[in-house]
Amino acid sequence: MAAMAGAGRRVVFFPFPFQGHFNPVMRLAGALHARGLAITVFHTEIRAPDPADYPADYHLVSVPVEVSPELMASEDVAGIVMAMNASSEAAFRDRLAALLGGGVRCLITDTAWYSAKAVARDLGVPALSVMTASAASFRVYMAYPTLVDKGYLPVTEENKDDPVEELPPYLARDLIRHDTSRLEHFAELLRLMVAEARQSSGLIVHTLADMEAPNLDQIREDMSIPVFAVAPLNKLAPPAKASLYGEVQADRQCLVWLDKREPGSVLYVSFGSLAGMDPREFLELAWGLALSKRPFLWVVRPKLIRGFESGELPDGVQEAVGDRGMIVSWAPQEEVLAHPAVGAFFTHSGWNSTMEAIPEGVPMICHPLHGDQFGNARYVCNVWKVGVELEGNQLERGKIKAAVEKIMDSEEGQQIRERMNGFKIGAEKAIKEGGSSLMELIKLVDLIKSF
Ligand code: UDP
Repeated sequence: MAAMAGAGRRVVFFPFPFQGHFNPVMRLAGALHARGLAITVFHTEIRAPDPADYPADYHLVSVPVEVSPELMASEDVAGIVMAMNASSEAAFRDRLAALLGGGVRCLITDTAWYSAKAVARDLGVPALSVMTASAASFRVYMAYPTLVDKGYLPVTEENKDDPVEELPPYLARDLIRHDTSRLEHFAELLRLMVAEARQSSGLIVHTLADMEAPNLDQIREDMSIPVFAVAPLNKLAPPAKASLYGEVQADRQCLVWLDKREPGSVLYVSFGSLAGMDPREFLELAWGLALSKRPFLWVVRPKLIRGFESGELPDGVQEAVGDRGMIVSWAPQEEVLAHPAVGAFFTHSGWNSTMEAIPEGVPMICHPLHGDQFGNARYVCNVWKVGVELEGNQLERGKIKAAVEKIMDSEEGQQIRERMNGFKIGAEKAIKEGGSSLMELIKLVDLIKSF
């Protein structure tokens, strides 16, 4: 270790191996590396990152985990997170212990890696938590037992429209839901995550201070540790390839296709890295896009359609979309959102997607599918008012057409676009000298150097 660049100022990162968790943590690593800190990345053996995608002086360390392929392919997120934590703990301990004495200042890891933070505490290594979702979502994590006790959860037909008094502006249906049969299991996972975050040396939230000030204030009041709001991370770090799915390369041809389109004319459609939908809904989406008469760029990830592998499309889809749309299996999303031809983003409201759309000023049509996405859509559509929510739980062609027309062609759409432009300017200011995110990042670097 002593011979490595930056020894004495080394930070160990341990990103969680889901795209939406991995990207922001690796971007934070990039931002700290650019400010002179040496980086070690612990990563799980499954979904290992490609070293070629990172600076040559990153030190990559593989940690074995045991999660059955069936569980890994399932939508049981709590089961996967708990299995990863339990199965990696001993190997993580050995690997972190082996680095001690080599100038390691701290561990920075996802709130989902609760066992890693407990190990670091045991070994006397300061640990910082990263919340890769919003500050509002962290407040949901903190309040989860109360929300269950008060009957907001599980969400039912009867309570779904009840305002959550403890967490305005949420209604019960905006809360992070889980299988009713496994709700206790999920509540236990969140309890562990919050308990470890509380005992850590600081919480880094991927959010903009101006957009989430009341939530950040509340977290600061409830947790007696420093809380840093640092976003948008993709703008604070040097550009990096960050795909965890080596077999799926971002299709750069779509940028050439976008070059040929009028400014603001294209709808970008993507539902992130995990969501699945059934073939019937997928066909409704295809028809909705076709009927909306706008050019569109659509990410159809392998396994997006339940029961269909890569490359196949259900019958009728190609006929429906015609030649006005381009379909790719993975897009260079940040570059797509920054492209002048893109006029709106039809999204599942994943937090990274939201945080990537804001600095580009791209308004959203929100179709949340699970987890924190319902709450994110609530903020986008009702608090910040920079998007419209697709009506109803199910994708329906007529509703899609109406939403596309509203966001791209109506007076209301124009107002949304103007508000979004205000947030874009705010995000640009936040990362410049004197801006909130840059100041918090500098404070974070100072804290790390003080360990
Ligand atoms: N992403 C991408 N290309 C795609 C689709 C998604 O690069 O075609 C990236 C996107 O930029 C974001 C991440 O995958 O950083 C998805 O994270 P998000 O939190 O939006 O959703 P999740 O995948 O966690 O549901």
